[in-house]
Amino acid sequence: MTTTANHTPDPTKAIDRTRLLIHGEWVDAADGAEFDVYNPSTGQVFTRVSEAGPEDVNRAVESSRKAFEEGPWRNMTPLDRSAALWRLGDLLLENADEIGRVETLDQGQPFSIARHGSVPSAARMFHYMSGWATKIEGNTIPISAGGDFHVYTRREPIGVVGCIVPWNFPLVIAAWKVAPALAAGNTVILKPAEQTPLTALMLGELALEAGIPPGVLNVIPGFGGRTGQTMTEHMGIDKISFTGSTTTGRRIVDASKGNLKRLSLELGGKSANIIFPDADIEAAIGGSANGIFFNAGQACAAGSRLYVHENVYDEVVAGIAEVAKNIKVGDGFDPTSEIGPLASAQHLDRVTGYLQSGVSEGARTVTGGTQIDTQGYYVAPTVFADAREDQKIVQEEIFGPVVVALKFTDTEEVVRAANRSAYGLAGGIWTKNISTAHKVAAQFQAGSVWVNCYQVFDPAMPFGGYKESGWGREMGHEVFNDYTQVKTVCVNLDT
Ligand code: NDP
Repeated sequence: MTTTANHTPDPTKAIDRTRLLIHGEWVDAADGAEFDVYNPSTGQVFTRVSEAGPEDVNRAVESSRKAFEEGPWRNMTPLDRSAALWRLGDLLLENADEIGRVETLDQGQPFSIARHGSVPSAARMFHYMSGWATKIEGNTIPISAGGDFHVYTRREPIGVVGCIVPWNFPLVIAAWKVAPALAAGNTVILKPAEQTPLTALMLGELALEAGIPPGVLNVIPGFGGRTGQTMTEHMGIDKISFTGSTTTGRRIVDASKGNLKRLSLELGGKSANIIFPDADIEAAIGGSANGIFFNAGQACAAGSRLYVHENVYDEVVAGIAEVAKNIKVGDGFDPTSEIGPLASAQHLDRVTGYLQSGVSEGARTVTGGTQIDTQGYYVAPTVFADAREDQKIVQEEIFGPVVVALKFTDTEEVVRAANRSAYGLAGGIWTKNISTAHKVAAQFQAGSVWVNCYQVFDPAMPFGGYKESGWGREMGHEVFNDYTQVKTVCVNLDT
């Protein structure tokens, strides 16, 4: 890959990497299959990518197994593994212009966000996780069984890990999984979403350049029902780490039964964001608007259910609607665009279906509510008000720039409402009262709670779901519970 200096992105420049990466080689699919990749800003095909079929999954598993069992990754010192991961973080930054360009073409997010948000965020994940490669330790354990025993635990890698990632933050979510899996000494097969396969391939290329040996990170784009399903059923894959819908998560649970794979599942959300009457209202409006509209609402933790105290309800709803109206929605390569299109035509249909259902079920459209009538998959930032708990737009994940405002009067009532969801990924609290903040944070049935902020992420902060939002955690040192297994060694010293 060529390192570029601060360039103006050229959407028409050809894409370098479009084939499968297996054991350090760029190869076509065994059956020659390819699929189209669309630019969501225009709805036009801009490249084609090899589509991994079952035979390619087998090849990738064989390669990753070999790299795990015999290969240099496992035998490398932790310090050398750490250095390679740090170098990969550096290479992401050095190539940020080109990676950002490709992410914008593929996913639609504005170039400034892809270049200055997504790429540095992925790089930080490798830098942070590189530090853990040297710190994965066991314990010594005093036991009470008769005799003189020396007992200790070893934290060992699980083996071959399949990472299946979605299309909303393609590079960032790949980094969330690949960085800790490799830091723990596993080998990885990465399957990006069919809508956004390209930056995963670039990550694979840079991993080789960073000195990560062939087979340690294989990248095989393809479709979920074929490539993904083959991976989840495969007896040669020891663990699947998945981010995506709860429906597909359930399918993965079923498919992984054969060899009882370990699973990490980061699934959907319908997160409640609560604004109390004593909040800094201006900050709450700005933070809550960003918490739903960022990335066109295609974020699992998006604050999509907005609970506002009756005393400030009208002011907050009007304030968020004003922000929504002024957001510049447009092509990711237009420097004035603040949010881009939805990632695919199929997703556009899904989101516009919810817009119609909101109206037909009787919610009030304060602003937006329509597709933006142009080429590409654009939806106007939308605020629904006066919604009822039983409406689909309140219960189901929309995954678009759509917030639903609901009124509350007291704290107990709002906590009950916030928790009345099958999901439990995240939540927000806006208040100046420290006691309200901590009490409600403790009562939230959710894996992440933000107080007077929203969607703050950091590699050191564990992230994952309660209830049907998933199993396991990404990030922080917690993630190593999911990418290692514990072995207990008991030595009889009386021999
Ligand atoms: P999916 O959960 O189907 O897709 C996520 C990933 O899973 C993709 O890589 C997909 O492959 C893969 N996949 C699909 N089916 C299987 C399978 N049977 N076995 C293994 N892997 C599979 O999400 P959708 O793209 O269908 O989006 C639907 C909804 O899911 C969204 O509207 C949103 O509500 C939610 N979602 C949540 C995300 C989150 O961050 N939690 C991220 C994305 C979606 P491929 O795309 O190549 O077919």
